[in-house]
Amino acid sequence: MPTLISDQRISRRGRATPELIFGDLWEFDPAPETADPRLQSRYDLFIDGKFVAPKTGRYFDSINPANEQKLAEIALAGDSDVAAAYRAAQRAFETTWGRMPGRERAKYLYRIARLLQDRAREFAVAETLDGGKPIKESRDFDVPMTAAHFFYHAGWADKLEYVAPGRRVAPLGLVGQVIPWNFPLLMLAWKVAPALAMGNCVVLKPAETTSITCLKFATILQDAGLPPGVVNFVTGAGETGAAVMAHPLAAKVAFTGSTEVGKAIMRSLAGTERKMTLELGGKAANIVFDDAPLDQAVEGIVNGIFFNQGHVCCAGSRLLVQESVADRVLAKLKRRIQVLRVGDPIDKNTDIGAINSRAQLRKIQQLVASGVKEGAELYQPSCSLPTKGFYFRPTLFSGVTMSHRIAREEIFGPVLSVLTFRTVDEAIERANNTAYGLSAGVWTDKGSRILKMSTALKAGVVWANTYNKFDPTSPFGGYKESGFGREGGRQGLLDYARLV
Ligand code: NAP
Ligand code: MG
Repeated sequence: MPTLISDQRISRRGRATPELIFGDLWEFDPAPETADPRLQSRYDLFIDGKFVAPKTGRYFDSINPANEQKLAEIALAGDSDVAAAYRAAQRAFETTWGRMPGRERAKYLYRIARLLQDRAREFAVAETLDGGKPIKESRDFDVPMTAAHFFYHAGWADKLEYVAPGRRVAPLGLVGQVIPWNFPLLMLAWKVAPALAMGNCVVLKPAETTSITCLKFATILQDAGLPPGVVNFVTGAGETGAAVMAHPLAAKVAFTGSTEVGKAIMRSLAGTERKMTLELGGKAANIVFDDAPLDQAVEGIVNGIFFNQGHVCCAGSRLLVQESVADRVLAKLKRRIQVLRVGDPIDKNTDIGAINSRAQLRKIQQLVASGVKEGAELYQPSCSLPTKGFYFRPTLFSGVTMSHRIAREEIFGPVLSVLTFRTVDEAIERANNTAYGLSAGVWTDKGSRILKMSTALKAGVVWANTYNKFDPTSPFGGYKESGFGREGGRQGLLDYARLV
């Protein structure tokens, strides 16, 4: 982001004009990331350590949401492919992985992390092409965090006697996992790394629109020499996901995605012995008190909702701002949003990339239209958008009340709803007035208030004077309709263990 150097506006041709500063940018030269993503034109299923054609004989297209061009075709797994994946996982569990000492498993996890680091640029470009997120995010966040999760869990694998002090832990056996499209590699790491560290074997389905990096990741597993069948990837749509969740060999299922699908999975597995963790939607409140460092808070708010196009379950999609500073915060936010760069995600200067799919773009458009119709005041910067591909301007709604759909429903796009409050109790009441409970942010100068808020807020994660900070050591997960179970940290590891 360029910083403006004086209170004069620099025109596009470099002449200074004595007008107000923000809101205008000189053009940047295009700065596309050039690493080769090494894409294949077709990807098969990864079962028993090998790439195999689906028994269905069918493939579907994966497109680049930035320009709607086809990137590759992906195998569509049917029930018998899913069954073959579980059989391979069972063989691996019984003959190799389930019997291997933790210190040996650790070596594979370290190797996987290092191999990903070696190919970091290639994976970052592939992630951006397939999913639409800005390259600076896939390069600086997704890929390094994915490696960090494997490193962290490698560190646990030979220390499992400390996971549950006083108890011994054992693997569960086979786990079925289904992940969404917003952080394809990172969600894979959150699921696969703890499962493997604990000695389980895995059948995982990535999201239909973002399967490519998962199948590329399979080549890292091969290069690491991971025994065949320990990890299997089956690609396809919702039906394939349902088959992965329902398979009788799964001792545990782990799902990240929408609350609606999570509820359907719970219903279908009710009455079985199967362990389950669900990471579902969110409608987080980012709460700004009048004593907060406001410029820092504005950066946190922007990061909280516009990071990754707002395709973030823990996105700070509701801003609760104390009435006495509301006008100032709103003015600062508008100025900041004007200089966000929306466009080609492969460009290193892009702040907001492409919406992941046409369907998701429609959903965002519909909810934004409902906000206008219900009387909230809309603000969008006037930036131009590429003509091909799926894009949405950063959007701010003020004058929002709790009865508006945009204050209650998850939009999963770059749309911020601003509400106000007067007292601490009112802030808590409003923040908790949601069916979800995944995350929240608090901005204040007072430590005691941070402690009070973090206790009172019904959210799995509460960030204080920051937002969207992640670390493999820190457990993540929700309350209420945001799901249950934790991923990351010792708690996340325990969710893949049996206590003996
Ligand atoms: P989704 O429709 O629930 O999809 C998630 C995954 O489930 C995809 O792989 C999907 O396959 C698969 N799936 C669809 N129907 C299924 C079924 N009946 N049984 C089993 N699997 C099924 O969610 P989405 O709209 O793609 O993703 C966005 C949602 O995920 C948001 O609500 C967001 O909040 C949530 N999310 C939560 C977290 C968290 O950690 N709490 C993290 C990221 C996202 P297809 O791709 O083929 O549809
Ligand atoms: Mg979906």
